[in-house]
This record gives sequence, C-alpha cells and structure tokens, in this order.
Amino acid sequence: MNEHSQAAIRIALVGIGEISRSQHIPAIAQSTGWQLAATVSRSTAVAGVDNFNTIESLLDARPDIAVVSLCVPPAPRFEMARAAISRGRHVMLEKPPGATLSECTILRGLAADAGITLFASWHSRAAAMVDESRAWLAGKTVSSFAITWKEDVRRWHPGQKWIWEPGGLGVFDPGINALSILTRILPESVRVTDALLEFPGNRQTPIAASLQLAAASGARGVAIFDWRQQGEQIWEITVDTDAGQLQLAEGGATVTINGELQIAPRETSTLAGEYPRLYQRMHQLVTSGASECDLSPLALVADAFMVGSRKPVTAFEF
Ligand code: NAP
Repeated sequence: MNEHSQAAIRIALVGIGEISRSQHIPAIAQSTGWQLAATVSRSTAVAGVDNFNTIESLLDARPDIAVVSLCVPPAPRFEMARAAISRGRHVMLEKPPGATLSECTILRGLAADAGITLFASWHSRAAAMVDESRAWLAGKTVSSFAITWKEDVRRWHPGQKWIWEPGGLGVFDPGINALSILTRILPESVRVTDALLEFPGNRQTPIAASLQLAAASGARGVAIFDWRQQGEQIWEITVDTDAGQLQLAEGGATVTINGELQIAPRETSTLAGEYPRLYQRMHQLVTSGASECDLSPLALVADAFMVGSRKPVTAFEF
C-alpha cells in the first residue's frame, strides 16, 4: 500500500512527553498519511489541535479519530489501550508494549476479536541497517553474539521518575531496544539462561544488567546493559557466524560486515528515520486491516527478572 495515495488518517497522541515531542509529532507532521487531530495530556497542550485531559474524553468527543498512539510510560498504558480498542479505535503502542506480558497478550486478543489494528512498535527495529542485517544473517550459522548497550541515564532520562518505579524497567528501558533488534536479525530464537541485575539501594528497577543468552541451536550470547556510562555512548551488537562477523553500531544506524562499513541507503542518525518508518508501517497495518504484536523482546526481559540474581549497588540520585 502506498501511503501517499491514501487520504490522511486522523490520529491522536496520548502522553505528551519527551518522545512525543521529539519524534512522534515531527514524524506525523512530515507524513502525508497522517493528520494529528488531537492530544491527551494531563499537563500540557499542543497548539493547533484539540487537547483532552483523559483518553475517555477524547474517545467521547472525537469519534472521527480512527487511531490513537500511546506514548505514556508502560504502566498506565493497558487501561488506555483497552478503552481505545473497546471504542473501535486502532492502537499504536510505544515500546515496551506494556508493563507485563499478560496484559499485552490480553490486548492482542481484544484487538483481534474486535477487528482492530494493534501495533506494538519497536522503534529500534526501524533503525537504518536492521533489515540489511537480518537479510545478511538469514541462512547463516550463528556461533556467538554480544550486545553492549551503555548510556548515561542522567543524559537520556533527566528527572524521569517512572523508569525507577515498578513497571518502569530501569536499564531494560533502553536494553529492550537491543533485544528488539537481536530478536529481529538472528535467524533463530533466543532464551535467557542467567542474569545479574544491579539495583541501586533506593530504586525499584535495575541500573545495570548482564544477561547470559543462548540461541535455539545452542550458540551462546551475552548482553551488557549499563546506565552509568560516561563519555562515549555505546549501542552495539556483534554476531559471529560461519561467514564472518556482523557489527551493528549506533543503535542499528550503521553496520560493519567482515570489517567493511556498509553504507546505509538512508539516513545514518539514530532515531531520526525510525519514527517516520514506524508511522508508515502503522499506516500499512491500518489500511490492510492487520496487526503486529511481537512480544519476544519483552519475554526476554521478563525472563531476566525471573532467573536473575539481584545485586545491591550505590544509591542513584538524579
Ligand atoms: P516522559 O518524557 O516521561 O513522557 C511520558 C508522558 O506520559 C508524560 O509526560 C505524561 O504526559 C504521560 N503520562 C501519563 N500517565 C503517566 C504516568 N502514570 N506517569 C508518567 N507519565 C505519564 O517519557 P518518554 O521518554 O516520552 O517515554 C514514553 C515512552 O516512550 C516509554 O515507553 C519509553 O520507553 C518510550 N521511548 C522513549 C524514548 C526517549 O528517548 N525518551 C525513546 C524511545 C521510546 P502528560 O503530562 O502529557 O500526561
């Protein structure tokens, strides 16, 4: 389906925080397939569109809005998504799709029963070189793989309290992006065999985690997530195969295969191209009556909490 041949679909954004303002609003504005028609926010408003305080008031007042995109943190998302689906609206979920696997499974079932599109988006899967990496790895034998995802939480999440509260995921909030790429590019499924989760004494979620992973064939992998990184920020995935090594860097924006940097046919800055591609995908799903809801990255995070050992570390202050 070519989105440029379609009339713009009216959409509402729910939760006007960092990611709504930096990515969702610009991506919608530059698309011919979408028209931002309203927002829901408890604290702010977006100029030029209707603003509501609750999703219920939006759903009551604007039956013409076919799609809602939920950009709130994962914990409050389920009730909003359920309300929207029950009122016949298509729903796009920011990552992670929910606070628990069971609530995501319920939403998937509700959407299917209602004939509603549910898109559990994984923005990192839309990074410039993820599809190319998946294509290169297809049919190859993986011998080992490694994720290094190290960033400065104070730089990327200044003052954000919800990421430290139950359901906020802590360092898995960025770490799940790496797992969403891994589960997309590897030619086989992955499981968690062991994990070490480092919890600041004053917080409910981990500031660092290391995961031991194994692919279905037995190939071993590791994932290192750390929010205490100073200086260079590292978002890298390396996969060793029978045909050599693939190295994704910059969160999937660049890839090096057997030492040669592959030139992206599109932009190479992180996030910039991801959200326009997510909205293009949502447009395709809505216009074709399909859904996309892969929960495997969230399952790996849940499993890390289930099998992981807990290590107390220095308290975190903003
Ligand atoms: P944020 O800056 O804290 O914004 C979230 C917004 O959700 C708040 O401004 C608030 O907006 C609304 N909200 C509704 N109920 C809430 C509640 N119970 N607690 C807190 N906020 C509530 O967070 P964000 O960084 O935009 O992240 C939102 C989602 O996007 C997360 O799932 C995150 O993983 C994902 N994401 C974030 C980034 C990033 O770089 N920040 C990148 C990719 C994906 P109102 O005051 O308008 O109600």
